[in-house]
Order: sequence, then C-alpha cells, then structure tokens
Amino acid sequence: MENRVIELLRESNALLEGHFLLSSGKHSDRYVQCARLLQYPEKAEEVCTFIKEKLKDEEIDIVCGPAMGGIVIAYELGRALGVPAIFTERVDNEMTLRRGFEIKEGQKVLIVEDVVTTGKSSMETKKVLEELGGEVVGIASIVDRTGGKDIGVKLYPAVSLDIKTYDADDCPLCKEGIEVVKPGSRKMK
Ligand code: ZN
Repeated sequence: MENRVIELLRESNALLEGHFLLSSGKHSDRYVQCARLLQYPEKAEEVCTFIKEKLKDEEIDIVCGPAMGGIVIAYELGRALGVPAIFTERVDNEMTLRRGFEIKEGQKVLIVEDVVTTGKSSMETKKVLEELGGEVVGIASIVDRTGGKDIGVKLYPAVSLDIKTYDADDCPLCKEGIEVVKPGSRKMK
C-alpha cells in the first residue's frame, strides 16, 4: 500500500527527488506537494481507499480539513466514508469554523490534512472543534512527515515519509556541488 501511494505521488510529480531550497531556508533531498496529486480525482480517490482501510475500526460522523491543504483531501475522504466534509480556515491568523458549518455536541470528527509535519494547524483545528463539543478521533493524511514523533493524536496516514532537511551551511548535497532549486521555480519540471 505505501509503495502504491509513493507511486501515485511520483506519477503526479507530487514527490520530487533532488536538492531543494525550502521556504524555511533549509535544504532537503525530497519535496512533497500534495496538491499536484490532488489535481487528479482518480488518484485522490485511490489514496482515500487506503486511508479508509486504516479507519475501518473507527466511528466517524464528519471530517474536517484545515484550509488550504486539507480541503480537497477531506472532501474526497468524506465521499469515501459517506460522511460530510467541512473545513476550518484562518481569519487574522486564528483558526475558525465559519460559513455556517456546525459541529454537534459529541460528534466524532476526523481531521484531514494533505501532509502532517508538526501538526500545528491540526492542533489548532482540534481546539476549535473541541470547543464546539466535537470529539476528535484522529488525523488522517496523505503523508505523515512527523518522523514518528508523538503529536498527541492518533494518525492515519496513507504513507509515512522521513524527509531529511539540512541547514544550508551544513548540507551534504551542497558539498557534493549539486545545484539547489526552489520548489515551484521554472527550473523544476
Ligand atoms: Zn544544499
């Protein structure tokens, strides 16, 4: 299953290998941009069948994806699970539930992200949903990049990737003389 997910990511150029300059200023040898996979509904659908399999023992009433990254995958997973899909979004940097979306007292909510790295936006979403009376059962994602770190919530990823990042002045790829590219730049295919 994990191999198939990696294949789907590669096929859609959502997982690139090389030498990348990240927005944090760090360098890495792999880069993930799940939106590229999610532009293909049939690939998104297939990824969701794997996530659904992991969730088979969980009771879920509704899924919620933090904007932007969580919206499309939450919608597709909602379809797979046969439950509604809503999203939270930032207003003045604060995570909120808007647009008339509601959580009922005791509803079991699954948070859905494209990638979980630090879990920061998921944790903010969890707080919002719990304040409204929801019960957060976990976080589903296409990619888990936590590196096995316990973020205090159960994770249901389609695949776990351990992507190494390096400080720019201590990067083995720089030392090898490989040109560094910024994801999204024209040099990237
Ligand atoms: Zn480098």
